[in-house]
Amino acid sequence: MSLKDNAKKVQMNIINACSKSGRAPNEIRVIAVTKYVDIKQAKEIIDAGYKDIGENRVKEGLKKYQALNSDGIWHFIGNLQSRKVKEIIGKFTYIHSLDRLSLAKDIDKRAKEAGIKVKCFVQVNISGEKTKSGVNPDQILQFIKDLIPYNSIELIGLMTMAPHEEDKELTRIVFRKLRELLTLVNQEQILANPLTELSMGMSNDYEIAIEEGATFIRLGTALMSEEALSN
Ligand SMILES: *Cc1c(COP(=O)(O)O)cnc(C)c1O
Repeated sequence: MSLKDNAKKVQMNIINACSKSGRAPNEIRVIAVTKYVDIKQAKEIIDAGYKDIGENRVKEGLKKYQALNSDGIWHFIGNLQSRKVKEIIGKFTYIHSLDRLSLAKDIDKRAKEAGIKVKCFVQVNISGEKTKSGVNPDQILQFIKDLIPYNSIELIGLMTMAPHEEDKELTRIVFRKLRELLTLVNQEQILANPLTELSMGMSNDYEIAIEEGATFIRLGTALMSEEALSN
C-alpha cells in the first residue's frame, strides 16, 4: 500500500482505539519513524503532514535532518551513546531513551552549553527482557529523584518498548504498567511538574497502547509504503 493509504488506515485505527477508550484522537501524537527509509522518502512523509519524525541512529538521523533543512520536530528514539550527545543537542527536540545517569549528565551539560532545555522521556524496561534497555521499574522513583539536579533536562514522561507477543493481552499489561508507574511518580510528587506523556506503541501494538494511555506512538512499518520498505 502507498503512504497515503497507510496513513488513512492508521488514522482510522487511532480513531477506533480512542473511541473504545473514551479518548480524543488529538491526544495522540504520531511519530513517523523514518529509520527504514532514505531521505527522499522521509521528505514524502513530512510532506504528507507528519511533523514528528523519529530516528534511532545519530549518523543517519542527522543526515536526514540536514537534508530536510531541519523541517519537522525530531525525536531520538534509540540507544544513545554519551559521546554522541553533543551531535544531536539543538537538533533533536525530544530524547525518548534516557536510561542512565551518566547519559543524563551529558545531555544536561550539552544542553546548558547550548542554552536550551531538552525534553526527555525516561525509558523503562517493563518486560525485564535482557535485550531491552531501560531503567528497572523498581528503580524508577530513585532514578527520577537523581535526575532533579540536571535542570536542563525537561522530564516529560516515560517510554517503553513492549516485547513481541502473540498474545496482545500480555502487551497490554506492559503498557498498563508504564501508565501506573507514571501515576506513581506523580503521586510521590518528586517533580515540580507532573509527568504527562507516555511514549509507547509501535506498528504492531499501537492500538493497545492508545487504549492504555499512550500520548506518543512511534510508527515505522505501519506508515511506510511497501515500495519504500523494499528499498
Ligand atoms: C524502529 C522503532 C520503532 C518503529 O517500529 P515499527 O515496528 O516499524 O513501527 C519504534 N520505536 C523504536 C524505539 C524503534 O526503534
